Amino acid sequence: MTAIRTRFAPSPTGFLHVGGARTALFSWAYARRHGGAFVLRIEDTDLERSTGESVEAILASLRWLGIDWDEGPFFQMKRLARYMELAEQLIAAGHAYYCWATKEELEAMREAQRARGAKPRYDGRWRPERAEAAGLVPPVDRAPVVRFRTPEEGEVGWYDLVKGAIAFPNAELDDLVILRADGVPTYNFGVVVDDLDMGITHVIRGDDHVNNTPRQIHIFHALGAKLPEFGHVPMILGADGERLSKRHGAVSVTQYRDDGFLPEALLNYLARLGWSHGDEEIFAAAQLVEWFDLAHVSRSPAQFNPEKLAWLNQHYIRQADDARLAVLARPALRALGVEVTEGPALERVVALLKDRSSTVQQLAEAARIFYQYEKPSAARVAELVTERTRPALKMLESRFADVAWDRRSLAETVGGVLKSAGLKMPELAMPVRLLVTGRTQTPSLDAVLELLGRETVLARLSHHLNTD
Ligand code: GLU
Repeated sequence: MTAIRTRFAPSPTGFLHVGGARTALFSWAYARRHGGAFVLRIEDTDLERSTGESVEAILASLRWLGIDWDEGPFFQMKRLARYMELAEQLIAAGHAYYCWATKEELEAMREAQRARGAKPRYDGRWRPERAEAAGLVPPVDRAPVVRFRTPEEGEVGWYDLVKGAIAFPNAELDDLVILRADGVPTYNFGVVVDDLDMGITHVIRGDDHVNNTPRQIHIFHALGAKLPEFGHVPMILGADGERLSKRHGAVSVTQYRDDGFLPEALLNYLARLGWSHGDEEIFAAAQLVEWFDLAHVSRSPAQFNPEKLAWLNQHYIRQADDARLAVLARPALRALGVEVTEGPALERVVALLKDRSSTVQQLAEAARIFYQYEKPSAARVAELVTERTRPALKMLESRFADVAWDRRSLAETVGGVLKSAGLKMPELAMPVRLLVTGRTQTPSLDAVLELLGRETVLARLSHHLNTD
């Protein structure tokens, strides 16, 4: 049995879209599942839209997700001689031919077809036998393109590993350009030559390419090559049923990274987007590799659900190591204008907060109170520091001066003051929170006090309580 070889072949015309990342993930998981190889190929033949930054962003996104490749990245623009060579081979065998039709001529052809109510298509006028019969003479002042001679009758089909049997009548396809006049291959030709040269056994890609597959199959046949298997994965839609795009919010992998998602959360989410393994929702890459198969890829489009992704991210943040979260939260805090040089160790702060944050940004936002004092407004203070609570707050302030500074004694102290003042927990906890952190929503009061430290807590309490 031949070893399985899959590939991911992005066009570097922008960031890695979550749809592309999912295609990469499925191809990668399929190769890993079968102990095969995963090849990375950059389809950079669109010279106007391809950029080096996009290549870098795509590679960085794949690395961040932990999708590693065994071969490549191969760049199509470095393989031009090879496409030329095979185009010439096809010409010599009669499977392809030069075409000198100009843009204006092609436009006129389409116009005439439309006027007749026919579907616009290239009419094969430069097929050598027709050109000769029509007395067409190759012009010397311009370079020709190379077109593939597509069979005009019959049909072409394949058994798609995701979608099942698919067939197209050849009459729907025309003689496509495979090599442009400047020697750059078109998508359909570059893909076939590369899939062939790279020994790809399974082409797993988005189903926006289903219409290209019949053309590619003809080229494979003309090159005398064995066909790879094809599996076309349905698109990802937004909540409104439209194809997922920027309108729906973040769509690039880098954006999710920058928005504070963990790679294992996004990977887990993408794996479940159009593929399932029983009822499993939470699993790591290793499990995906153990379970992945194309039979359980859904035939219908998947819907992107940001809430579910946030839920998974929260799960992975809760599980994450404190030291790792501290490393991630530091730049997020810096982006909020918060330096963590003074104050409690960030690792201890994230340990306290990670249960309640669904992104690293939320974690940073919650951590802010330990490093930056947001002074509460006088009005807010007056609302919570009342005749009824002030004596208890003062009592607390004086007991805090010499109590042992750990969660247990702090909780006991608060409890003791509540009792002697005859207050309920929120009546005291709310003003304390407000005075020491500027916010009334914080994690458990004793934990917050402990982390802030005696000096800070006393300074902030006294600032508000001893103004008269
Ligand atoms: N460069 C193509 C794309 O980005 C890849 C198509 C394929 O996988 O064959 O859509």
